[in-house]
Amino acid sequence: MKVFVVNCGSSSIKYQLFSMTNEDVLAKGVLERLGTNQATLHHRARGQSWKLAVQAANHTEGLRTILDVLVDAEKGVMSTIGEIEGVGHRAIHGGEEIRGTVRIDESVLEVIRRNAELAPLHNPPSLAGIEGAMAALPDVPHVAVFDTAFLSTLPPKAHRYAVPEQWYTEHHVRKYGFHGTSHRYVTLRTAELLGKGADQANLITAHLGNGCSMTAVAGGQAVDHSMGLTPLEGLVMGTRSGDIDPSVVLYMQSRGFSPADVDRVLNKQSGLLGVSGCSNDMRDLLGEAEGGNERADLALEMFVYRIAKYVGAYYTILPRCDAVVLTGGIGENSLPIRQRIVRSLARLGAELDDARNAATVKGRAGPITTDASALAVWVVPTNEELMIARDTRQMVRPL
Ligand code: ADP
Repeated sequence: MKVFVVNCGSSSIKYQLFSMTNEDVLAKGVLERLGTNQATLHHRARGQSWKLAVQAANHTEGLRTILDVLVDAEKGVMSTIGEIEGVGHRAIHGGEEIRGTVRIDESVLEVIRRNAELAPLHNPPSLAGIEGAMAALPDVPHVAVFDTAFLSTLPPKAHRYAVPEQWYTEHHVRKYGFHGTSHRYVTLRTAELLGKGADQANLITAHLGNGCSMTAVAGGQAVDHSMGLTPLEGLVMGTRSGDIDPSVVLYMQSRGFSPADVDRVLNKQSGLLGVSGCSNDMRDLLGEAEGGNERADLALEMFVYRIAKYVGAYYTILPRCDAVVLTGGIGENSLPIRQRIVRSLARLGAELDDARNAATVKGRAGPITTDASALAVWVVPTNEELMIARDTRQMVRPL
């Protein structure tokens, strides 16, 4: 059974075609610069890769182009697109209405439209991608896996802000959270690696990529999470500030910044980039800090310190903590940051095992703390696309 997984941004379409028999990726790629005359398709299949200049004015055309390549005699992996039995979409904001994976119908499209107000950067392109794929593949089921769904179990004491009730009831102001599919994947995978049922897993999961978020998981369910109404809350990220006093927003407006300026600065010019003044990329910052750049070093300190504070908070609210789990580009690859994180958790009994830290790279999963460590820290690579493919298969042809 073949499942096609699609993740649409405003000017890009990422895709993977899975054979669900062994969960093999038959082909994958990304179409970039959609809607410009420089649209480019990076496609990988059969152990080869191609970079193709393509015509794609919108998501529908982009998806048709990708499907054409998937059945191409040289670059393709199928004889007809009829081999695709289900399409899984990464969807972003499902609001309070959607709490799990759903088969897409008009009511689901309406929820995505309605929640575009809360996720103006993410829901409209995702919707365009879903509608484009439904037009290109009208005869197969389309399934949506929402970033917010895994976090819909947060209890009111965790998801409500201490603002007037009316802000919640009338304006839907609450914590929704994001990266849920990644947190769910690593929760399930870590439970498996620990030899536990998913409903027995008590974890603190940290997705550390360009965007960064943490989730407290009790009995396999999310009970708290660091991102909020939008992905701006919580950890220090590549270009986002994470937690700040909300008065800063008003204060900077009184200093002449427009609301749009403040929004741009906090989302695109803050975080590691804003503090270091040189880069949002962890590899660059580690190099700069090593070369004596104090601002880069401070950015790294703040990044790790904020993570340690969240671990402390989540450790306190969980009934037990089986492991802190690191994932995402930084969590999976950056040995020095992992070392700093474990050191910052010494008070909770975390003890780094250097050899394990060095060996847990290139997609490997495992603990990076010693067996004697009172708090285990694990690295578990995420795979949101596989999670979406599994959910889609389950919806289309339940096991
Ligand atoms: P996104 O959130 O955009 O999916 P990723 O999960 O790929 O991003 O994470 C991007 C971050 O991971 C960047 O800060 C990058 O520097 C970091 N990263 C990726 N590979 C490495 C590596 N080998 N060593 C250190 N950091 C890495």
